[in-house]
Amino acid sequence: SKIVIAIDGYSSCGKSTTAKAVAARLGYAYIDTGAMYRSVSLFFSQNHVTLTNTKEVLAALDHIHITFHYNPKTCRNETYLNGLNVEDEIRKMYISNMVSEVSVIPEVRRAMVAQQQKMGRKRGVVMDGRDIGTKVFPDAEVKIFMTADTLIRAQRRQQELLAKGELVNLDDIIQNLEKRDRIDSTRAESPLRRAEDALLLDTSNMNLEDQIQWVVDRVGE
Ligand code: C5P
Repeated sequence: SKIVIAIDGYSSCGKSTTAKAVAARLGYAYIDTGAMYRSVSLFFSQNHVTLTNTKEVLAALDHIHITFHYNPKTCRNETYLNGLNVEDEIRKMYISNMVSEVSVIPEVRRAMVAQQQKMGRKRGVVMDGRDIGTKVFPDAEVKIFMTADTLIRAQRRQQELLAKGELVNLDDIIQNLEKRDRIDSTRAESPLRRAEDALLLDTSNMNLEDQIQWVVDRVGE
């Protein structure tokens, strides 16, 4: 029978790449919850929403519709905001720099968590984020908490951005990762933390294939 696999952890330690590959191997759906908070950030940025104005935030949330569609050309699930493909835009540095500020807003979290629970209610999903094992699916059958050394995470992130043509200084990336981890871990509403029953996966000295196999092995147990 199909289960929920919750993958949480710090920014850029390989959660989404691992989660995606595990989902493909098991024939499960993959849901990138970070992409949802990034899409909300993009919409807020485009529509000049004042983050401290609850009325504006709630009104904006009413106009946000996020979906995922598989693109056979890129072999990946891509993010759509109100019917437009925003997959590349939401990975840019200006979004990374505002997303943690957006995802602390309780109204934003409430709306996203409700959608995520709906998306996973039939099980058979791999979901990655910060609060999946603690808040979205506390009853997930398999919970993984991923981490890696900051420098290694920053180097991997720099390579990813470079591959998309965005050249970013390593120090700026380190600062962004540390800032996001700090805000994510200390916010009032479902902060980033390891669920008591989550298995710890440190990917500092692991390659992608090892990470994928490690998770798939945990599912078989
Ligand atoms: O996973 P990714 O780095 O794309 O997530 C971007 C940001 O979205 C995180 O730094 C965090 O602030 C927020 N996030 C969250 N809860 C999740 C997933 C992401 O608060 N479940």
